[in-house]
Amino acid sequence: MDIKSVGVIGAGQMGNGIAHVFALSGFDVHLTDVNQDALDKALGLIRKNLDRQTSRGKIEQSAADAAIGRINTTLTLADLGATDLVIEAATERETVKSAIFEDLQPHLKPSTILTSNTSSISITRLASRTDRPEKFMGFHFMNPVPVMQLVELIRGIATDEETYKTLLGVVEKLGKTAASAEDFPAFIVNRILMPMINEAVYTLYEGVGNVRSIDESMKLGANHPMGPLELADFIGLDTCLAIMNVLHDGLADTKYRPCPLLTKYVEAGWLGRKTQRGFYDYRGEEPVPTR
Ligand code: NAD
Repeated sequence: MDIKSVGVIGAGQMGNGIAHVFALSGFDVHLTDVNQDALDKALGLIRKNLDRQTSRGKIEQSAADAAIGRINTTLTLADLGATDLVIEAATERETVKSAIFEDLQPHLKPSTILTSNTSSISITRLASRTDRPEKFMGFHFMNPVPVMQLVELIRGIATDEETYKTLLGVVEKLGKTAASAEDFPAFIVNRILMPMINEAVYTLYEGVGNVRSIDESMKLGANHPMGPLELADFIGLDTCLAIMNVLHDGLADTKYRPCPLLTKYVEAGWLGRKTQRGFYDYRGEEPVPTR
């Protein structure tokens, strides 16, 4: 199937990056959110990130201008009805995602492929609540989307071969690399990454190290480009906690229990960079540990 237009639901960290890369690759993009502020912020960020790519000589100014011209924003979900492919990138909560697909369904063309950028929620279960489980897939981009090369493709139990092949073609057109994962909690990347981040939070919780020593240890001792706590702040602590809960519930193994300290940060509304406080405080010139 030839994909020309794409609907992106949720204009947060991931939604703006997804809209950016699709527009830059020549797709028409319709970006929606429940919050006008999020839409305005997303467009501003996309402009800023395109400018950065232009000034570094990675793309031409004309390509950046054309990309911005291909993005429409709307608060009305039904405006996405005529698109060929929908990528849901709203908050990592199953009830939110299911309600979005239910509201969108009556407005869709029969051929539209539905996907979710979920980091962890069962694709089979999300698909089963739609009118097209065979045209439903997990389409998992990494953060920041314009920079990261990998996209995980997750087939639900009912996903048909044509849908899978279409998405493989889309990933190729984006210039990215697809990794296929089976539909089990958190798929591949987060199944491995999140327990490591959660363990770093336990290391802090138990006083084995402080924020700086934990991050320095993993950067200099394991050659990770970012420390695990810095990375958790970057991903969003609410998203990290949601993924640990999905692993814990879905695999029923206590080794995935979320660290109580991670829960406490989320309860405080300290969600990382997006709220300016998490394991670090980002309100000053330089990030400083919050404890
Ligand atoms: P975010 O909190 O930055 O953005 C979520 C956006 O969804 C917000 O702008 C919110 O207003 C919007 N939203 C909430 N309910 C909505 C609705 N009913 N309709 C439309 N928009 C709605 O979150 P994020 O980090 O962008 O994560 C989005 C999704 O991407 C999640 O499923 C997450 O698991 C996944 N993901 C996140 C990362 C990451 O590193 N943050 C990486 C890969 C995948």
